[in-house]
Amino acid sequence: MAGPLVVVGGNAGGMTAAAEARRGAPDLEIVVLERGEHVSYATCGIPYLVAGEVASEDDLVHHDPASFMRERGIEVRTDAGVAAIDPEARVVTTADGRRQPYGALVIATGARPVRPDIPGIDLPGVVSLRHLPSARGPRRILAAASDPRVVLIGSGPIGVEMAEAALALGARVTIAESRPYAVPALGEEPAARVARALSEAHVEVRTRARVQGIERAGETLEVVIDGDRVPADLVVLGTGVVPEAGLAREAGCATGEAGAIAVDRRGRTSVEGIWAAGDCAVAHHRVLGRPVWIPLATTATAQGRIVGRDVTGRPGRFPGVLGSWVSRFGEVAFGATGIDAAAAAAEGFAPRVVTREGSDRSAYMPGARDVLVRLVWDEATGRLLGGQMAGSGEVSTRLHTVSTAISAGMTIGELAACDFGYAPPLSPLRDPVELAAAAAVGDAA
Ligand SMILES: Cc1cc2nc3c(=O)[nH]c(=O)nc-3n(C[C@H](O)[C@H](O)[C@H](O)COP(=O)(O)OP(=O)(O)OC[C@H]3O[C@@H](n4cnc5c(N)ncnc54)[C@H](O)[C@@H]3O)c2cc1C
Repeated sequence: MAGPLVVVGGNAGGMTAAAEARRGAPDLEIVVLERGEHVSYATCGIPYLVAGEVASEDDLVHHDPASFMRERGIEVRTDAGVAAIDPEARVVTTADGRRQPYGALVIATGARPVRPDIPGIDLPGVVSLRHLPSARGPRRILAAASDPRVVLIGSGPIGVEMAEAALALGARVTIAESRPYAVPALGEEPAARVARALSEAHVEVRTRARVQGIERAGETLEVVIDGDRVPADLVVLGTGVVPEAGLAREAGCATGEAGAIAVDRRGRTSVEGIWAAGDCAVAHHRVLGRPVWIPLATTATAQGRIVGRDVTGRPGRFPGVLGSWVSRFGEVAFGATGIDAAAAAAEGFAPRVVTREGSDRSAYMPGARDVLVRLVWDEATGRLLGGQMAGSGEVSTRLHTVSTAISAGMTIGELAACDFGYAPPLSPLRDPVELAAAAAVGDAA
């Protein structure tokens, strides 16, 4: 490849692509152009930074720009937002008018928060979380308020993680969720387990809620929810994200699901010499067998690796995603992998669902905790399609088990027949995952 390699966007997708390209091409000139003040930062740590569980913003920066040059010979320019791409001339132009030629271009511009059309949404104290500086407002507001009140709009994983952060700082918390129950991506029974934990922590969850407006009330705010005025020092929007794909679209790159940049399984866009990775791009789904848009850090880094190899002449094939995610509220962990029953039905599967609650170790052992497992499979073939879990016991590794089984194309019967280890303080005789799968195939005794 004739250099240089230029990467637009310096976080999970972009920096992984740059680092992987360096491994394959020790002498290649690599330039990363980042609009913000940081590169290589842990967005996912923001709720824990707000809570004070992570001490400082610096702890969430994996590598500073200078270290990329020193240790890997990668030039990183911050405060260098790219304004335009000319794919014919192979040049990008930054907002300050500087032109940067490229041999290959990786677009890793991520996603941006949705700001719903609610009156008052732009008032100070109404925040979205995305990049590290976005944690500063919430930290300042919560530290300054003597009896802080927080309203979270949306109850996805980030909303619930922020509820935990706000509680840790002594705030009273209200969640407004437009759907019939909180954490809707979990499905009803696992979501009910999280709802119980929220209620026990005195978080007010208003479901089927309509946020009508946000207004100033002296020094603070009031959020009008279904006609009620809920006081708030801080309002956090957890209303989803959209792909940051405008730059690529203007350069002629085709877009796909949700308007994200269309890429093939090598990460190539429809424009010669341009690749894309991360939240700005679609990703192949292992169960659905087609591209989807599921913005996650895991996907961004996996795509970044594939792209970094491809641009340096080491083509791979992106294996695909299951959209696996895990989260936490207090002692209750929860997460999902694969597809839920509604999505399965929409895709033409004949979904069946089984739910079982078990103990994370022998129930008689001190510290035994609950894990609720819900599995979705296709009645016609037995193929495992998805899983959702919640509980105060270990959830994430059990979710990994289900994710692995789906990736391997296992049937629900094959999962039931797996040979898991047993020792009373560590794992029960029949693991909750095994119990659920066994119940599905009529072997629950
Ligand atoms: C609070 C929070 C918690 C999260 N928790 C989790 C979690 O627990 N697990 C998980 O898997 N995912 C989590 N995510 C999602 C995860 O952070 C993203 O999926 C991940 O950061 C995507 O990486 P990316 O590199 O594709 O995009 P981004 O992280 O958005 O990075 C894109 C970069 O491109 C830059 N950029 C954009 N446009 C331009 C331009 N024109 N020129 C130059 N630079 C540009 C941006 O400034 C940004 O730095 C969380 C997200 C948030 C907000």
